[in-house]
Amino acid sequence: MLALLDTLTGQVAPLEPAVPGHLAVYLCGPTVAGTPHLGHARVNLVWDTVRRYLTWTGLEVHFVSNVTDIEDKIIARAAEEGTTVEDVASRYEALWRRTMERLGVVAPDDAPHATSYVDRMVSLVGELVGRGAAYEAGDGVYFSVESVPGYGALARQDLATLRSGARVEAQEAGKRSPLDFVLWKLAKPGEPSWPSPWGRGRPGWHTECVVMSLDLLGEGFDLHLGGLDLSFPHHENERAQALAAGRVFARRWAHNGMVVDERGEKMSRSVGNGMSLPELLDRYEGRVLRYLVLQAHYRAPMSVTEEALQAATGALRRLDNFAWETRELPRVAADQVVVGDFRRRMDDDLDTPGALAVLFGAVRSARAEPERAPALAAAVRECCEKGLGLPLRGEPTSLDQEVAALVAQRDSARASRDWGRADAIRAELTEMGYLVEDGPTGTVVRRPS
Ligand SMILES: [Zn+2]
Repeated sequence: MLALLDTLTGQVAPLEPAVPGHLAVYLCGPTVAGTPHLGHARVNLVWDTVRRYLTWTGLEVHFVSNVTDIEDKIIARAAEEGTTVEDVASRYEALWRRTMERLGVVAPDDAPHATSYVDRMVSLVGELVGRGAAYEAGDGVYFSVESVPGYGALARQDLATLRSGARVEAQEAGKRSPLDFVLWKLAKPGEPSWPSPWGRGRPGWHTECVVMSLDLLGEGFDLHLGGLDLSFPHHENERAQALAAGRVFARRWAHNGMVVDERGEKMSRSVGNGMSLPELLDRYEGRVLRYLVLQAHYRAPMSVTEEALQAATGALRRLDNFAWETRELPRVAADQVVVGDFRRRMDDDLDTPGALAVLFGAVRSARAEPERAPALAAAVRECCEKGLGLPLRGEPTSLDQEVAALVAQRDSARASRDWGRADAIRAELTEMGYLVEDGPTGTVVRRPS
């Protein structure tokens, strides 16, 4: 059984579903106000892998991930582009779906939209006001963090410590404490709005997730997921509302680490040279990004550099080549020792680097012991595809496409006078068995005759 670090307790513990055989999971989805970035790629790839892995091990996973289609950033973007909020939201949602497809991320079983849940959010806010956990202030309704015992548990900090760290300027519009957060925001003229007992307005982001997760998954659902940057305050605030309303919220929490630059600073927007996620996917297939993500432990910070992408491309090619070499071997059952080792690594707080090492070990064994090769090849194929969401391509066409991509990258490196990189790509092509020449129109590769 998969064990994961529980953010609330700080302990790695097996993930026991409330209903045996079923797992109810919620992952905070996108605010559809802009182009998806590397942080989105990582969070979705990590938890898509977990979803696939658990399904493979026999669990029925109910996976819910929302779409925030009303929020300040969307309103700002619509004003900037001189268009409607609906237009911005639907365009960026379409781009989001396309990008997730390119990453090979399975669509959620339910993808609720915030705008379809406003009535239910209004009733939760009303309930919180009635219970004394929320109050009206100048520009909306706020949640009082003092009303919940143990506020700060996800950040593993107490209220006093959190309060001393909160920015003083946040104390505006009659908020009683700087940590109090908005549940209902009154609309300014021209802003989209819905009716409520406190005046026309829109729900706060933190209210959205708590309402939709409980509605679709039920009280005490198994697992709430997200990036570490959401653990506080977003997830704490979801939890606080549920507790204050007397509901049992997520039984477990798990968070993945951030994408950082070489200095270790959070960098989700783009790769070093300013490339967005869709642009990166024009150059590297989704499997390469998934491989890169799985090469790191899910809780460790990780960076996305050209070198790392090249290395991931090369490692994935070794697995693809193995699938190609073994494609005509008799189809037999997967080697259970390898599958068992692979699962043990995955079950140990999602040790994907260790799980990949098991698979490379199997590739080496298959070459050393040809009589075991059919069962080992079956194990590698099955673990990659079903356990990691990384189907192997035992086809030479993928190699052709990859060679074409490397040629294009080498030409652009030469155009920008990055000779070191051009040489590195030449070396890689040579290693793949090509002769590399500089022709009048750029790099020319051919197989030695
Ligand atoms: Zn959320």
